[in-house]
Amino acid sequence: TVVVVGSANVDLVVDVPRHPGPGETILGGRLRRSPGGKGANQAVAAARAGGADTWFLGAVGRDDAAELLLESLSGAGVRTDLVARSDEASGTALIWVTDDGENAIIVAPGANAEVAVDDAARARLPGADVVLAQLEIPLETVLGAARARRDGARFVLNAAPSRDLSPEVWDEIDLLVVNEHEARDLAPAGGALGAAGATTAGGSAAASTPAQLARALLEKVPAVVITLGGDGALVAERGGEPETVVAPPVTAVDTTGAGDTFCGVLAAALADGATLVGAARLAAAAGALAVTRPGAQAAVPTAAETADLARE
Ligand code: ADP
Repeated sequence: TVVVVGSANVDLVVDVPRHPGPGETILGGRLRRSPGGKGANQAVAAARAGGADTWFLGAVGRDDAAELLLESLSGAGVRTDLVARSDEASGTALIWVTDDGENAIIVAPGANAEVAVDDAARARLPGADVVLAQLEIPLETVLGAARARRDGARFVLNAAPSRDLSPEVWDEIDLLVVNEHEARDLAPAGGALGAAGATTAGGSAAASTPAQLARALLEKVPAVVITLGGDGALVAERGGEPETVVAPPVTAVDTTGAGDTFCGVLAAALADGATLVGAARLAAAAGALAVTRPGAQAAVPTAAETADLARE
């Protein structure tokens, strides 16, 4: 069983010829409305990966957007019993995309700011083999969910978007999943980075390779996966050598949701008993498939599609 604790957002996307300037109004293209949010995306990915039961612990409003979000979750096979209804609006991401594919995003968290570990969640969390969270909900909730897991269950944190973590949260992490950018934000300066970058002033995250970043992060957590876009991912565990898993080469159409697909599939494979490297290999193949399709949740591949690509 996987319990994903996190955000659900309706993505409102519009194509624009260019970014609007201050005080400016510009006309865009047709509005697209699709289910997103890191938590919900990752839950959909975990459920579609098959194997493990997947529950989503989150919150939505009492609005139309909530119906879209809940339908997408249950359509993918995610259990939604732990989704609370808030008086706040469902989380909404306002996204515009320019002709050259560059986007700008504003998130109104709404109900996501109210996600909490309530009694129902507290009763369910000990049944999880993997508890997976991200950072679009209150940190206190992330910590509460981690602490409610049973002994032996894994707490996987996708530290996105990156923000400062309390020592209490660091202490709970069994596996940290980050992209390169987040790894740079979170890697402790000094230590492994200091030694690696001894010729620069005390070593700096900016100049570090993924392997150096992984080594620095292993000072804080027992295992790390750094995703590297088209280059796949680096898997590192304390006491072992870092290992790279490849992403099968694909033609990228829309990278939205690639990282979320990776995290969800990784969690499902771990709950199913895969090794970390084995799980990362599947996750990298699933992430690659996700970039070949537009959208976030709509782009998540099935277990069969992922297995086919991972075998190649
Ligand atoms: P994020 O979207 O969080 O920044 P990444 O860009 O690292 O995360 O992508 C996550 C995963 O998606 C990668 O590890 C890889 O498996 C897959 N992926 C992303 N971009 C590509 C690409 N251009 N080609 C193949 N796979 C990709």
